[in-house]
Amino acid sequence: MTQAMPIPGHIDPVTVPRPAPAREDARVELVGLSKAEMREALAAAGLDDKQAKLRAKQLWHQIYNRGATGFAAMSDIAKPQRAWLAERFTIGRPEVVVAQVSTDGTRKWLLRTVDGHDFEMVFIPDADRGTLCVSSQVGCTLNCRFCHTGTMRLVRNLDAGEIVGQVMLARDSLGEWPSQPEGRMLSNIVMMGMGEPLYNFDNVRDALKIVMDGDGLGLSRRRITLSTSGVVPMMARAGEEIGVNLAVSLHAVTKEIRDEIVPLNRKYGIDELLEACAAYPGANNARRITFEYVMLKDKNDSDADARELVRLIRKYKLPAKVNLIPFNPWPGADYECSSDERVQRFSDIVFEAGISAPIRRPRGRDIMAACGQLKSAAEKKSRAELDRIAAEKQAALA
Ligand code: SAH
Ligand code: SF4
Repeated sequence: MTQAMPIPGHIDPVTVPRPAPAREDARVELVGLSKAEMREALAAAGLDDKQAKLRAKQLWHQIYNRGATGFAAMSDIAKPQRAWLAERFTIGRPEVVVAQVSTDGTRKWLLRTVDGHDFEMVFIPDADRGTLCVSSQVGCTLNCRFCHTGTMRLVRNLDAGEIVGQVMLARDSLGEWPSQPEGRMLSNIVMMGMGEPLYNFDNVRDALKIVMDGDGLGLSRRRITLSTSGVVPMMARAGEEIGVNLAVSLHAVTKEIRDEIVPLNRKYGIDELLEACAAYPGANNARRITFEYVMLKDKNDSDADARELVRLIRKYKLPAKVNLIPFNPWPGADYECSSDERVQRFSDIVFEAGISAPIRRPRGRDIMAACGQLKSAAEKKSRAELDRIAAEKQAALA
């Protein structure tokens, strides 16, 4: 088991675990490295500067544009050098443990890191596009009460290679290499899988930079959305250094209820969060911030809640849209989903105030692939154990 260690620094001292360990065979994983890092890795393995630069350029193109998974077929590199590379480097993907397809076409993969930790990835196809839901951590330090991932401890952060590796694996399975700008099934990415992306900032940023690089995976930042439960101190940096669309898991409009269902609210309250949204670089009427709102019966779904949501969005002059997510139940959850009529009424109130508030259709429920249901199969715990984990996490936040 990977051990936890505190991150030094004053920005937001939460406990995070150690990074991914080195491979047992000591080869260096190239997936996840930037062009400069590839050059450094090649130089460290013994190539002179000029060679390292040239090879890094070739490898970058082969790996991120062509989708190469080995060196053998790289015809632009001399054969002896391909063998030399293969002894020292790998071009990996997360291991697939289980791949499932829902009756509605949603696909879910249970994936495994090289050191044996399981995490999940989901692909949601639509008529003319498809969205890949990517994980940033194995487990989560937060403990939103309605979220299945929140019942796991954080095992560790995924590294940049494991994050970008999910996108590459999905491309493998959809047969979408080489990278091309148009006509792809995998057209959008949401950082809404397991984990809180802003608690794994550097790796998420480095991975998304590769995804957005025109010469890499080539997906526009307009087609990428990062969802946070409200890690206020990291939001400005996310806007400046990553620049993707922002989604915020608001879920409640009063302190009392948000404290209960999104315990991070005790640390960063609603006003602070909405101020950070108002200051989010790049948000405007053409690129709105999405407020995610999970509909929980008799908890956060009244007419008064809907009106308060409108008031808050107006108060902070937010270029906003609201995504209403019917609660997806999981075994042992404390909540129920609001009725269809209630969800519709809530949506109408927000719509009538001039704010778009579509109701998200649940996808992949039959394979537990819907929002907030992700949790690796290996992690089955008793109710008492779950309560203990929740208490520990909340104590850590206090
Ligand atoms: N940690 C990040 C991103 C992952 S969760 C965050 O919290 O934003 C992606 C979205 O699914 C979040 O809005 C989350 O609140 C929502 N969600 C979690 N559990 C859910 C459930 N059981 N039903 C519906 N939505 C859920
Ligand atoms: Fe973590 Fe997001 Fe789930 Fe909250 S909703 S427990 S932040 S994954």
